[in-house]
Amino acid sequence: MSDLSTPLGQQITQLRAALEEYNYQYYVLDTPTVPDSEYDRVFQQLLKLEQQHPEYQSPDSPTQKVGGQPLDAFEQVRHEVPMLSLDNAFDEASLLAFEKRLTDRLKDTRVLAFSCEPKLDGLAVSILYEQGRMVQAATRGDGQVGENITANVRTIANVPLRLRGTGWPERLEVRGEVFMPKAGFDRLNETQKAQGNKLFANPRNAAAGSLRQLDSRITAKRPLMFYAYSLGVVAPQDFILPDNHSQRLKQLEQWGLPLCPEVDVASGSAGCLAYYERILSARAQLPYDIDGVVFKVDDIALQQQLGFVARAPRWAIAQKFPAQEEVTRLLDVEFQV
Ligand code: NAD
Repeated sequence: MSDLSTPLGQQITQLRAALEEYNYQYYVLDTPTVPDSEYDRVFQQLLKLEQQHPEYQSPDSPTQKVGGQPLDAFEQVRHEVPMLSLDNAFDEASLLAFEKRLTDRLKDTRVLAFSCEPKLDGLAVSILYEQGRMVQAATRGDGQVGENITANVRTIANVPLRLRGTGWPERLEVRGEVFMPKAGFDRLNETQKAQGNKLFANPRNAAAGSLRQLDSRITAKRPLMFYAYSLGVVAPQDFILPDNHSQRLKQLEQWGLPLCPEVDVASGSAGCLAYYERILSARAQLPYDIDGVVFKVDDIALQQQLGFVARAPRWAIAQKFPAQEEVTRLLDVEFQV
C-alpha cells in the first residue's frame, strides 16, 4: 500500500492536484492557466514517479484518465467505443523505445508501416452517420461520456451532413479534430478587438470556446474546420473495411469526409523521423496550428493485437514538437470561453 504522508507521497499528491486543476481550467473552462509545455513537464514528472514506485499507481491519477468532465449545460453522450488520448514522445529515443515495445510485444522484427499524421491542435470530435446522414456529434469529454454538440458541428462548412457515394455502413462514427485555421483566428481576434471583446489566447482556445457554445448561431460565425483521422463504431459488425488505417482514411475521403492533406505512410522509426523533420520544417507555413505528429501502426490486425492501456492505445504515439508558445503569450492575453 502507498503511504501518501511520506515526502514522496506528498510530492505525488501535489503533482496530481496541480494536473487536476490544469485539466479543469483547460478542458472544462477552455481557459488554460499554464503553457502546454509546463503541463507536459508536470505530467511526465508524475508518470516517472509512478513508474519508479508502482505502489503509488492509482486509477484516479491524471496519468490514467482522459480529458475532463463534460459540462452539465450540454446533453451527455455515452461513447459506444471510448475516445482515448495518446502517449507522448518528446525525443528520438522515446520514438525508438516505442518501436521496440511494438516489435517485442508482437514478437515480430519486421519493419512496421505507420500512418503519419499532423497532430492538429484543436478538439477531438465524434460524428455519427446513420444511413449516410449525420445524426449526432459529441466532444471527447472524459473519454466515456462527451457533450452533445450536434447543432454546432452542423454549422462547420466542411463537415458533410450526408455522406457521398454509396456503400457506406448503416452506422458509421467518424472521429477527427475540429480546429480553427490561423487566418480565421487572426480575423476573429481583429473583430473581437474592434468590438471591444476579449481576445482568444490561441486557435485551440478559440476553437474550443466556439464549439462549446450553447447558441449554435455563434458557432456558425466562427471559422472552424474539421479533419477526420479515425473511425469509432461501424455497424453491422461484419461490414468490410480496408485492412489498413491509411486506406480506411482514403475510404472516408471517398465518402466526402475531409482529410488533412499532410497524412502519409512511413516505414519504421526511420521513416517516422524523416516525416517528423519534414512536418516540423513546414510547421510555420501550414495554415493551421499543430503541436506534433502522430504515428499509428497502419495494419488494423496488429492494432487489435496490441490493444490499449488505461488512457491510450499501445499502437500509436504523439511525437510533440518543441514548445512554441511562451508564457508571456498566455499571460498577456485575456482568455475567453
Ligand atoms: P494529446 O493532445 O496529447 O493527444 C490526444 C489528442 O490528440 C486527441 O484527443 C485528438 O484531439 C488529438 N489529435 C490531433 N490530431 C490527431 C490525429 N491525427 N490522430 C489522433 N489524435 C489526434 O492528449 P490529450 O489527452 O487531448 O491532452 C493532453 C495535452 O493537452 C497535453 O499534452 C497538453 O499539451 C494539453 N493540455 C494542456 C493543459 C494546460 O493547462 N495547458 C491542460 C491539459 C492538457
